[in-house]
Amino acid sequence: MNEYDVVIVGGGPIGIACALEAKKNGLNYVIIEKGPIVNSLYNYPKNMQFFSTSERLELDNIPFISTEAKPKKNEALEYYRRIVTTNNISINLFELVESVTKDGNIFKIKTSKNTYTSNNVIIATGFYDLPNKINVPGEDLPKVSHYYNDPHYFSGQKVAILGASNSAIDAALECWRKGAEVSLIVRGPEIGHRVKYWVRPDIINRIEEESITAYYNSTVTEITESNVIINTPSGQITLKNDFVLALTGYTPNFDFLLKMGITLSEDEKRLPKYNPETMETNIERLYLAGVVCGGMETHKWFIENSRIHAKQIMKNIVKD
Ligand code: FAD
Repeated sequence: MNEYDVVIVGGGPIGIACALEAKKNGLNYVIIEKGPIVNSLYNYPKNMQFFSTSERLELDNIPFISTEAKPKKNEALEYYRRIVTTNNISINLFELVESVTKDGNIFKIKTSKNTYTSNNVIIATGFYDLPNKINVPGEDLPKVSHYYNDPHYFSGQKVAILGASNSAIDAALECWRKGAEVSLIVRGPEIGHRVKYWVRPDIINRIEEESITAYYNSTVTEITESNVIINTPSGQITLKNDFVLALTGYTPNFDFLLKMGITLSEDEKRLPKYNPETMETNIERLYLAGVVCGGMETHKWFIENSRIHAKQIMKNIVKD
């Protein structure tokens, strides 16, 4: 007899959606989360505003009321936390899942605190834990970060921001508005087209008026204590620098998926193998939910379009 019908790995919005659905279906379930409730969201920038309107972030039609159409991070923390507490969701926090193995029909889930057995496992681990490295000398210096939180810290400082998507652009504008001297280093020829439509003109105007300096078609080749060295189309330049924010995206934990036996595509997309109707992987009764299913194509999956996975998975689990 297994302890659980379903073990859900990851207590982000989609893990919580799976738990709500498991509960509705009378299943014995638990979420195991390595940090606090919605750990990824908790670590998003302090002033972050979602690009989705609040109703598109709702789980199970539970109303998400926000002061503006697009909610702020704090409102989302409030919303998802209240769902967990009000619905008495079974969630073990600050417990890292180290491995998931299958012996016959039984999954064994080994964590930093315990070992569990279950008939089904849902992997809802997202993609926010592993930043895409730029792999240049100096990347490990304390002044370099792959995460951004609050602009106040950078006031009066020379900040190089790497990237051209939403995270990098939000950070560049916020830091500049709080008095940082911002250089934006962009690998491609322009600001990304997926940047929020109301933010893109703002950054383009700040660049055109030379408030923020943008280096297009450029890459950082080295970071030192006091400089960044950049390859630009007009040659190598050395910029004086206090901090580097390398906001070049994140990837799912592919090693974790591979160790469970999940097949990944061999091209650069590294798409995990799963049935899009049931979200079941090539391992029977091992499911993927949320953005973890997107491989390197992390921009294709959001809360908006992956909250549906919970219902798809549970329908398949209860059909037997
Ligand atoms: P996550 O929220 O990443 O949750 C995964 C959880 O798994 C985490 O809590 C993590 O701690 C836990 N975990 C990982 N590994 C383990 C392990 N081994 N053991 C135990 N726990 C583990 N989406 C939208 O729909 N609209 C938006 O407006 C929007 N804005 C965004 C803005 C920013 C700045 C970013 C970065 C993302 C945004 N997204 C938005 C994307 C959205 O946040 C993600 O799609 C969403 O968090 C996915 O939910 P998830 O539950 O799949 O993964």
